[in-house]
Order: sequence, then structure tokens, then C-alpha cells
Amino acid sequence: MDGIDAAGPGRISRIVILGGGTAGWMTAAALSRMFRQRLSITLLESEEIGTVGVGEATIPTIHWFNQLAGLDEAAFLRATKATFKLGIEFVDWARPGHRYLHPFGQYGAPLPGVAFHHRWLKARAEGLDVSLADFSLAARLAQANRFARPSDDPRSILSTLGYAYHFDAGLYARHLRELAEAHGVVRVEGRLAEVERHSETGFVTALATVRGERLPGELFIDCSGFRALLIEGEMQAGYDDWSHWLPCDRAVAVPCERAAETTPYTRSTARAAGWQWRIPLQHRTGNGYVYCSTLLSDDEAAATLLANLDGAAMAEPRVLRFTAGRRRRAWIGNVVAIGLSAGFLEPLESTSIHLIQSAIAKLSTLFPDRDCDPALAARFNALFAADMDNIKDFLILHYHATADKPEPLWAQCRHMALPDTLVEREREYRRSGRLMLGSEELFREASWLAVLNGQGIHAAGYHPMADTIDSATNRAQLERIRDAMARAAAEQPGHDAALAALIG
Ligand code: FAD
Repeated sequence: MDGIDAAGPGRISRIVILGGGTAGWMTAAALSRMFRQRLSITLLESEEIGTVGVGEATIPTIHWFNQLAGLDEAAFLRATKATFKLGIEFVDWARPGHRYLHPFGQYGAPLPGVAFHHRWLKARAEGLDVSLADFSLAARLAQANRFARPSDDPRSILSTLGYAYHFDAGLYARHLRELAEAHGVVRVEGRLAEVERHSETGFVTALATVRGERLPGELFIDCSGFRALLIEGEMQAGYDDWSHWLPCDRAVAVPCERAAETTPYTRSTARAAGWQWRIPLQHRTGNGYVYCSTLLSDDEAAATLLANLDGAAMAEPRVLRFTAGRRRRAWIGNVVAIGLSAGFLEPLESTSIHLIQSAIAKLSTLFPDRDCDPALAARFNALFAADMDNIKDFLILHYHATADKPEPLWAQCRHMALPDTLVEREREYRRSGRLMLGSEELFREASWLAVLNGQGIHAAGYHPMADTIDSATNRAQLERIRDAMARAAAEQPGHDAALAALIG
């Protein structure tokens, strides 16, 4: 990205970031690179307070951020003990004994005319018994524990792939810290003691540490995590609590010894009062049980988690508390909240790190002058709110569309009142197979298709344009694509071998 000239009167020259978790160091690394050292950036963090220390699974948008930060893929994989991720396997979600994959990348292959899934729906309506997963190369690779990176050649079936990473969040932050410090970011160790504000504008003018250091700035980024010390503590943004839709409010996390062979996908297994994650890394497997604290005690959650690990636990289980929801305004005056301080949607679809990078992208586009024009903040807040709203609906779908699960959490979620936006989307898909998505939405057609079908919501109709292709031709084309995917999957290396080939 081109450097931005921040010199001159009225321009911001000093930024202070409060917090050195994933959000703080991602922001520091990105801004220091984008502004090419023309801004002075100071980051205050407290080792004594520490970070949430989880956040190990990502989605394919991570490539955009890693490129922006200038990360070399092999060096990044080595430094963060990362593995590849082709999607998420959902076990026992739709109903007990059922499993499906939400794969990255595309279903089928680009064919002229109507979207591929309408071709599949037409063939299904005419009796062809092929699952959606048969048309996802990522799903086929994941099931076979194989891996390949996408091809840039649109004629290759490998071009339908998408991938992300699992990584050690603490090592990722450290890796970004090295980059940020190399770009001139100054880290200050210490606890925040006081926030100085301008008596007229209410703008924050400086942070003071317990040891008496004073960190002045013109723009303050609140990356203080759930504490939200600036955006809530000072600016009182308010919080929209979404726990009536997303009732899990705690997680207990524990790493365990890695399995002999790592799998290129996250596993999410539904449990009585929530769900358990399993995230394979090079040096260990990350695990956690996300649960609803009114239905399960911390001790019960920890016992269930410890009874369901691949290998020996490597630490004591750690409990984290949260409330699903979002800050009503993430940018107020000269304070911008990025990361958990701006809100948290539980980790089911690994969206938090994406939301951090998305906020950094918005901030760079809308980067203010010293007066922090409220119109920029309003635009940022509207875009951030839309991001969170759309992801929220996608997550609710997983909880709501289930069957044969009598436990209170699942019974309650099956019967809860849904957001109108989700009701409309589900209704239209059931009726016509159409996915009514806005252009800015993170989760695109393939993701909604995977989860709607995976959770047992099926389309009765399909797009009328699919009838312009005669049934035999449609069927033959689909079978050809299915077979080509099966062949391509069988030719790819195992996941561990593919990883070793890249990192040496
Ligand atoms: P934190 O990591 O909490 O960092 C806060 C920083 O502020 C720390 O450096 C702290 O020292 C500093 N600080 C706080 N108070 C003070 C003070 N008074 N003085 C000085 N410094 C202070 N995201 C994903 O994308 N994928 C996942 O798989 C995923 N899984 C998750 C699972 C769980 C159970 C949870 C809770 C979250 C998960 N997340 C996940 C979210 C992810 O962990 C966070 O988005 C990410 O770590 C960013 O956190 P943060 O930097 O905002 O906050």
C-alpha cells in the first residue's frame, strides 16, 4: 500500500494504542506500515494484565491482512506454529450423530448462466443423489486429511479452493510486534492509571501510566479487550447485548498434546450446554468448551472438556467470560475501539480476527485529521454495525436450526424469536433456493449454502433459469465436475506433508 503523508497542520501525527493483544499488535503493525513511519505510534500494554490468549482459528480474509502487514507465508507459518485450515467440521449440530463441513472456497465450477447451486438443486429435484460436499474440493481434501493451495488459473479445479490458518495467537501477536517495532512503534510496558480529556471537546489528550509516564496523542485506539477502558470507561459508548440470541457466555480453554497427524480443519462439536472446539497446531491442539453459564457450572464444563481431548492436557483449564454483542458506537470523538473492546460474537465461525482487520481497513480508509470529523466516525460505526449484524445472523442460524436435541439450550434456541433479517433469508432460501445477500456481507453464498444445508434447511425450488439447461446435460456436467473433484483431491499431498514442504 502507498504511504500516506501525515505531515502538515491539522494532520494527526501521534497515535496511542492501548493494549497489546492480537488487536493492538495487528493495528500497530498495519498502521506503522501504511504510514511509513510518518506517524509516531505508541502502544501501552501490561504484561501483568495479559491478553485473552485464545483466538487460534481464522478465515481466508487473513491473507489480505498478512499481505498488508508484509508477512512472508513460510516465515509466518513457522513463527506462529500454524497449520492450514480448509473449513470447520460441525459435529452433532444439526442433530445427534450428524456431521457436515463448512468449507472455504466455492462449490462446483464456474458454468455459464445461473449460479452453480441452482444447477445442483435442479438435479436433486430430478433425482440425482449427490451431496453438496461432493462439489467442494476443500471439503473433499479436509475429509481425506489432504491440502493444496488455490491455483490462480481459473481453468484449474484448484482455483475453487480457499484456505486460512490455525495459529498460536500469542506467537502471532509477538511476530507482529517484531514487525511493528521494526517500523518504529514504541511499546510502553505499564498499567493505565488515568485518562486525560480536553475540557471542551471531550477528546482524549493523553494516557498516564501507574508509573507516571504520560503518553500524549491525537488519536487513541482502544485495544484493551473486554475491559474497553477508553470506548466504554471514558466515552460510554453503550453495548447491545445479544445473549438472547447467542446465549453462550463463557468458555473454558485448555491446550493438549497434538495428535500424530494434524487435520486441516477446525472441529466444532455440539455439547449439552454449548459446543467444543478443537484446533490443531504444529506443537499442540487448542481446545475449548463454549457454554451457557446458567445451564452449566465452570467445573462441569472443564470436566467435559478434559474428558474429550485428543491427548494429555498441557495446562490447567482457563475460564473466560463474555457477553455476545457489540458496542453501540465503536468510534467516538478521537477514540476508536478495535478488537474485543468493540464487541464479541462468540468464536463459532472464527470471525474476531477478521473483524479486527476489517476495522483496521475502515480506519485506514476513513483516517481522520485532528478534528476527527464526526461524519467519518458515523460512517465507521455504520459499517462496523452492519458487519456485526450480518455475522450475528449467520451464527444464530447454527443454534436455531437443529433437531432431536432435548437439552434446554437447544430447545430454547430452536424456539427463540429470530432477527427479521434471518427469517426473511431462510424463507426465501426454502422457497426458491435464492440467497439474498448484501454486497458487503462477509459470509457469501457458499458459506450460507453450507450451513443452511448442513443444519437441515433445504430449498424446495430453484432459479427458473436453470430450466434453460436440459436435464441430461445438467446432470452430465455435474457428474463430470464431481468426478474431476474426486480425482483432484486424490492427487494432493497429505496436510502435514504440504505444511512441511512449505516451512522446511
Ligand atoms: P486482549 O487479548 O484481551 O488484549 C487486551 C490488551 O489490553 C492486553 O495487552 C492487556 O494487557 C491490555 N490492557 C488491558 N487493560 C489494561 C490496562 N489497564 N493497562 C494497560 N494495558 C491494559 N478470534 C478468532 O478470530 N478466532 C478464534 O478462534 C477465536 N477464539 C476465541 C475463543 C474465545 C473463548 C474468546 C473469548 C475469543 C476468541 N477469539 C477468536 C477472539 C480473539 O481472542 C480476540 O479477538 C483477539 O485475541 C483480540 O483480543 P484483543 O486484543 O482485543 O484483547
